Amino acid sequence: MTHAVEVPLAQHDAAHAVLRALPQRCKLCGVEQEAAPVAICEHCLGPLEPLYPADRRLPTRAEIGSRAPSLWRYREWLPFDWSALPDGATPEILSRDTGFTPLVEAPRLAALLGVARAWIKNDAVSHPTLSFKDRVVATAINAARSFGLETIGCASTGNLANAVAAHAARAGMKAWIFIPEDLEEGKVIGTLVYGPNLVRIRGHYDDVNRLCAQLADRFGWGIVNVNLRGYYGEGSKTMAFEIAEQLGWRLPDAVVAPMAGGSLLTKLRKGFREFSDAGLVDGDLPRMYGAQAEGCAPIVRLFESGGTTLVPETPHTIARSIAIGNPADGAFAVKAMRDSGGSAQKVSDAALVEGIRTLAQTAGIFTETAGGVTVAAALALAANGHLKRDDEIVLCITGNGLKTTDAVRDALPPAPLVNAKVREVAALVNASD
Ligand SMILES: *Cc1c(COP(=O)(O)O)cnc(C)c1O
Ligand SMILES: [Zn+2]
Repeated sequence: MTHAVEVPLAQHDAAHAVLRALPQRCKLCGVEQEAAPVAICEHCLGPLEPLYPADRRLPTRAEIGSRAPSLWRYREWLPFDWSALPDGATPEILSRDTGFTPLVEAPRLAALLGVARAWIKNDAVSHPTLSFKDRVVATAINAARSFGLETIGCASTGNLANAVAAHAARAGMKAWIFIPEDLEEGKVIGTLVYGPNLVRIRGHYDDVNRLCAQLADRFGWGIVNVNLRGYYGEGSKTMAFEIAEQLGWRLPDAVVAPMAGGSLLTKLRKGFREFSDAGLVDGDLPRMYGAQAEGCAPIVRLFESGGTTLVPETPHTIARSIAIGNPADGAFAVKAMRDSGGSAQKVSDAALVEGIRTLAQTAGIFTETAGGVTVAAALALAANGHLKRDDEIVLCITGNGLKTTDAVRDALPPAPLVNAKVREVAALVNASD
């Protein structure tokens, strides 16, 4: 931080209009709130969500298809006022080129799962920081800019720290990032390199989150997953939009996704519903399956209990990126799973490590621990009869394995070391089977 590169903020020239964030509405009591870096309803403490103009013009499949391949091709469903732009002005959008990650078919994994077809939505190669958190930061950073905030930040389990640091650096904004003390080195280095203020907090994610709520007020920062949370969450819907478009404007039968705070799972369902409501896709909405690690599975346990009150947990799992003991959107994620006819699945740390290897060895994709949880959960759901022979399913792979190599190191065979002699390699080949 002592050698931070000083670069002036980009000049706003007249031809570039700054985006305006939409107002919000309370998800519980419905009270409206003008656009502001606020995430909680002042009447009932419920979460706020962007309120879209009911009469806005929505694009056709062809219009969407003609736009640049980024998450902004779905801009009418992202929380900004596009009609407010003066004629001819191009909006100045930060983080323009995030989104539109590959949807790859995985027939060998489908065979293993016993389903008709399976695809990987591969956010392990998200631009620029190799996790789906680029999506949520892309929308939150534009909300921060529209509010004139100069500093963004986050409470993070790792991937969000990477994304906030990178997107802030690119925009010339300051970043204050807070993480629990025990994060993987790949996540820490992958944050520090962008030159943010990174602070490790003694405690778990939930302690970090509580602190950040206070810091946002004290310093006037835009903490993307705290006081900008309403705008942040909408970025996750783009994963659903892309899945529908990349399947050829169709919906899958089932979707499996990892859950931390429960926002992604909730917003995937919202995204599928919005495309269905817009007439862009037809048929039933997908059954939603949420996955967690056994060592931190408060949302799965709430689902299994059949109740409505989430019991917070203290995390004990190597799946650190999804280790949130008191998930903000846990109850909404449970509702999404129940309403869609899906289910919730928890898996052991040993199973998630196997899940990482299975995905690598059947689909050629190296995911981090959260992806291992997703694959292991899909295997368990298939074994329990939740996934059926004629199902077409999508697995949301949300992060990259190179960030959490420690998780698999001990599970992999060592590579033999030999001299540069054909004879020595021939011995290995003969011994191999
Ligand atoms: C943050 C994260 C998730 C899930 O996040 P939610 O808080 O549930 O939206 C899933 N996978 C990875 C790799 C993540 O970093
Ligand atoms: Zn309210």
